[in-house]
Amino acid sequence: MKTTTQAVIIGGGVVGCSVLYHLTKLGWADVMLLERSELTSGSTWHAAGGFHTLNGDTNMAALQGYTIKLYRELEELTGMSCGLHHVGGVTLADNQDRFDMLVAERAKHRYMGLETEIVSPEEIAKIAPITNLDGIVGGLYDPLDGHLDPSGTTHAYAKAARMGGATIELHTKVIETNQHPDGTWDVVTDKGTIHAEHVVNAAGLWAREVAAMAGSYVPLHPMEHQYIVTDDLAEIYDRDREHPHVMDPAGESYLRQEGRGLCIGFYEQPCKPWAVDGTPWDFGHELLPDNLDKIEASIEFAYKRFPILETAGVKSVIHGPFTFAPDGNPLVGPVPGLQNYWSACGVMAGFSQGGGVGLMLAQWMITGECERDVTAMDVGRYGKWITPGYTRPKVIENYQNRFSVSYPNEELPAARPHRTTPMYDIFSDLGAVWGHQFGLEVPNYFAQSDEPDFETPTFRRSDAFSATAREVKAVRAGVGINEVQNFGKFAVTGVGARAWLDRIMAGRIPQPGRMSLTPMLSPKGRLWGDFTVSCLSETEFQITASYGAQEIHHRWFLQNSANNTQVENISDRRNGFQIAGPRARDLLTACSRDDVGAMKFMDVRRMTVGQVACTVQRVSYTGDLGYEIYCDPMDQRQLWWTLWHAGQPMGITPFGMRAMMSLRLDKFFGSWLSEFSPDYTAAETGMDRFISFKKNTNFVGRAAAEAERANPPARMSVVFEVDADDADVVAYEPVFIDGEVKGFCTSGGYSHHSGKSIALALIPRAFAADDLEVEIEIMGQMRRAKRIATPLFDPDGAVMRG
Ligand SMILES: Cc1cc2nc3c(=O)[nH]c(=O)nc-3n(C[C@H](O)[C@H](O)[C@H](O)COP(=O)(O)OP(=O)(O)OC[C@H]3O[C@@H](n4cnc5c(N)ncnc54)[C@H](O)[C@@H]3O)c2cc1C
Repeated sequence: MKTTTQAVIIGGGVVGCSVLYHLTKLGWADVMLLERSELTSGSTWHAAGGFHTLNGDTNMAALQGYTIKLYRELEELTGMSCGLHHVGGVTLADNQDRFDMLVAERAKHRYMGLETEIVSPEEIAKIAPITNLDGIVGGLYDPLDGHLDPSGTTHAYAKAARMGGATIELHTKVIETNQHPDGTWDVVTDKGTIHAEHVVNAAGLWAREVAAMAGSYVPLHPMEHQYIVTDDLAEIYDRDREHPHVMDPAGESYLRQEGRGLCIGFYEQPCKPWAVDGTPWDFGHELLPDNLDKIEASIEFAYKRFPILETAGVKSVIHGPFTFAPDGNPLVGPVPGLQNYWSACGVMAGFSQGGGVGLMLAQWMITGECERDVTAMDVGRYGKWITPGYTRPKVIENYQNRFSVSYPNEELPAARPHRTTPMYDIFSDLGAVWGHQFGLEVPNYFAQSDEPDFETPTFRRSDAFSATAREVKAVRAGVGINEVQNFGKFAVTGVGARAWLDRIMAGRIPQPGRMSLTPMLSPKGRLWGDFTVSCLSETEFQITASYGAQEIHHRWFLQNSANNTQVENISDRRNGFQIAGPRARDLLTACSRDDVGAMKFMDVRRMTVGQVACTVQRVSYTGDLGYEIYCDPMDQRQLWWTLWHAGQPMGITPFGMRAMMSLRLDKFFGSWLSEFSPDYTAAETGMDRFISFKKNTNFVGRAAAEAERANPPARMSVVFEVDADDADVVAYEPVFIDGEVKGFCTSGGYSHHSGKSIALALIPRAFAADDLEVEIEIMGQMRRAKRIATPLFDPDGAVMRG
């Protein structure tokens, strides 16, 4: 066995083998996979082998598309069979909401170039004749759906990797991973120790145990899962072609042909987490005992949907465990807090996602970034707050919701509230209807006593509409207040702080007492963050960005650290309020003896507000006259009562995220992971106006940003007013120009201030005339939209700056 290597991959399931193959494909030959038993000895060997492209996240869907197309490449390269059955599949909709969801998915696919199709019950009868269509409204047909041989595919990845130079050691169990001070690793096995530059945890069912060897926790949990294979059925084997897949979300089942019979699996409600306190090391090539009681209700439903099953004999029952993250997406990338340690875990659909996971991870390890935004599967999307006690109920919820309609305004209840600020009970008493972000409770809106205290999930305008309208009006006409809890905040201190910020941020770094906005770029010029930088002194800065991205940003800061600069994540150690609206200055003046009037737009000051020591920034994402007032969370309630009492004569009104997202539309402000994300460059999104090409620093991404300046990118961000009815743009709706799909929406919504439906979109620069008229597909309807170039509130910034 080799004793040194560039990268050790722990685990020879489909995911580990895909990572190994992709590393060799992208140029690393000196890589090694360690497997404690034979390849496929975890979840992989007993998978049903189905694959599909459908995923609520567009990037995940694209990576699933990549995975499916990769199998032919693997077969050609290795001469091995993956046992591919490209039979297509249909997802059924038994009610209007489910149909709406499929229609919205289909609309997204138009821009992605996926050839899915909405089909009527009559068409479903032809595609999948064994289906009882009672109550079926329609379906979504995907020609890419199919299934394969899990073992053959894993071995094909392994052979392709070996052909690229990789080594695979079977019957070699990793028992320790110990880091050297230089960041390299000793991987200790029962056959000896290997010194590796990088370690990848692809240990599937044992990922928790392997992560613990490095002192880390990976938020996933195994769940028991069952599928049944029937005896031969004449209605199936007499057909002239293979029966396609049928996903029946109402019955929480997936069905396909298996040999001369059928195979049907269930995501049952009475589901069971497996190996709660850890996966036994002696588990491997056995199945769990059959548990047909658990799926009894699902089977009964399936008999109605597929009557042919009722008389079919059962050939075998496959009951095995596989792992899920709390949101069901994989956990991939550099593990926060560790150096050269990578995660490729929590892949619940290894045959749909394994290829994409392998490709992204290999790009990340070799080049430092991926070609697309992988936030949806980034292991850094969870923070240190996550525990097994949170993960388990969330994983159960995710399993149970696997086939549920997923709505854009939906807030899933399991394991909540998990983290709350000192304002939780005060806001609850004021009628807060809560959402959550990165484990933290955040008010979406404040319901009055005669309004519902729960926002009904919908694809259309929700029952939060009137409350949101009221809050928007209160901000624009008087003064609104909300918390600044959901910003990611960092303290950057030390003699090197300015130089470090100048290198890591592309924009201008402000002078003491001032603030600036700046993009943070990847080396290839893609957006890594949109930051507000506040200079408190030459050696002390506060920087703020997305709350949900804090762990990902912090990881990047540590990877790019400097000796004379300290970067601390203070997201939950600084809290406070934003006050916004024409009376905001009056309110702050009433609460402080400091010279509030002297503060100009984008000034930052230390100030005593009431009796609380605060840092006050004159800026507001509402686009209005406004201030962000930060304090120690221990002082936050005191600060609240000061502002709240002083604001009463001014009609102070609490507002939530729904109002905030409407207010920002008035000013065409983009938001993180919608307009601004690693999928886009600064010039595509208009963020290039904040890049300081004048500064004398070789900031990260400079060469790429300069190249873009010399040669503007093909697409650009524009704003449309949409002739919408009761549903607004959410994201990824296709934009038709002269009848052809040319772009897509990045976000949108209803501007309550202007009474208009607004869409932000990326379209080809060549089409971006001021008077451009387009059509946008919303919920299957073509909606006329015209470009608007002037913000709907305070177009010249006089209010914001005044
Ligand atoms: C009943 C069932 C049906 C399924 N159907 C489908 C389907 O139709 N389509 C689909 O896409 N997915 C399906 N899945 C899920 C699929 O099986 C998983 O997504 C996939 O197998 C995950 O692969 P993995 O490589 O991440 O993990 P695993 O397959 O668990 O592999 C991990 C490997 O790591 C090794 N290992 C662990 N610890 C160590 C160590 N310390 N040292 C050395 N080696 C170690 C293990 O021996 C194992 O071989 C199904 C799962 C089940 C249970």
